[in-house]
Amino acid sequence: MLGVIRELIKSKGPITVAEYFKLALTHPEHGYYMNKDVFGIKGDFTTSPEISQMFGELIAVWIANEHAESRDPRPLHLVELGPGRGTLASDVTRVATKLPQLRSALSGRLFLLEVSPAMRAIQRHNTTESSSPTSVNNDNWREFETANGFRASWLDSLEQLSSQADGPCCFLAHEFLDALPFTNWRGGEWREVLIDVCSNAGLKYRLSDSPPPSDLLACIRSNETRRHIEVSPMSGDFVDQLARHVTSQGAGFALLADYGYDVANPDELKTDTLRGFRKHRVRDPLLDPGESDLTADVDFDYLKRRIARLGLPGLAVFGPSPQRAFLLQMGIAARLSALMSSSSASSETRRNHLSAARTLLESMGQRFKFLCISGSPGRLLPGCQAPPGFLPETKFT
Ligand code: SAH
Repeated sequence: MLGVIRELIKSKGPITVAEYFKLALTHPEHGYYMNKDVFGIKGDFTTSPEISQMFGELIAVWIANEHAESRDPRPLHLVELGPGRGTLASDVTRVATKLPQLRSALSGRLFLLEVSPAMRAIQRHNTTESSSPTSVNNDNWREFETANGFRASWLDSLEQLSSQADGPCCFLAHEFLDALPFTNWRGGEWREVLIDVCSNAGLKYRLSDSPPPSDLLACIRSNETRRHIEVSPMSGDFVDQLARHVTSQGAGFALLADYGYDVANPDELKTDTLRGFRKHRVRDPLLDPGESDLTADVDFDYLKRRIARLGLPGLAVFGPSPQRAFLLQMGIAARLSALMSSSSASSETRRNHLSAARTLLESMGQRFKFLCISGSPGRLLPGCQAPPGFLPETKFT
């Protein structure tokens, strides 16, 4: 991948950080996500749904509650953006087999928005609990039935949803937005950070000579004090689409969870967060494109400002709420007790549950945050109750 990027720069000139990010992660041949399973102890990083079943189970209960609040009788579709190994989708649909209220709510289809053929094969394998990964190169692979009895298919883009499903959707995106391209800017006269070749066969940063486009300037907070910012217009485009979907249906909701910062908490404000990840260690992001993960912290305030710019009526946004607060309010303590007191749990299993809950609440508890975008009429009223896991005062319309 490094060779491909160097050749591209030599022929076209320096590329933006967003172009680099996109090539390194999703280049059809050499992109980081495109050919292999990158998760877990043997991979490069471990995510919350992979750490414990409790994470997906509590999200399932959250969905059941939001659906009940919406009082919308139409079948709800479950749409997951960037499902990784399919663990969150499996846990949510498994809870639905045990909770009739959730199963009757989620009576629509399961859609998985996924760019990587390798991840699609793993998702199908894990959600169908089949004995070996199925090849995804014939016409039958697009639609399948999961082990939990859901009709499932993949989406290449959210635009495809309208031709495949009518009615409200529950959108889930866990560690999806941090994997989308970010642009990188240095102030005070705001110049874009570009990536160029350097003489030693590697890559280096340089600043663009041109002034930024007006839509970037419109994205910068009027009271911005940082001299280095990251903006992800592609994440903004995704949240715009989710906001438009829930308002056009007059129902439905999205739950987005990722690591990132909240401007309401100035201590958290970050500047340069672009980093590589390999074998659970932080790497120089320019070192080995395609071989290590690339990521940056999500700016939740930017996402909220993007939604506000749409000026859509019939929309409420809650959060960001720290993962610790969300999981505690959703009853992780009670779920942990139930798992620990199960007569079939060995002492090792009990230890693992306890240590997983600690990781989710402690080391990941503040850095990871949840954002809810809701089109449910009951969430729009002034002074209405916030969804569980969120404080009413974080509402934003
Ligand atoms: N949600 C999972 C995986 C997060 S990793 C978890 O938390 O465990 C990011 C996921 O998004 C991977 O499945 C990756 O292949 C997918 N992805 C990355 N960029 C994408 C894009 N532009 N469109 C669709 N899927 C994408």
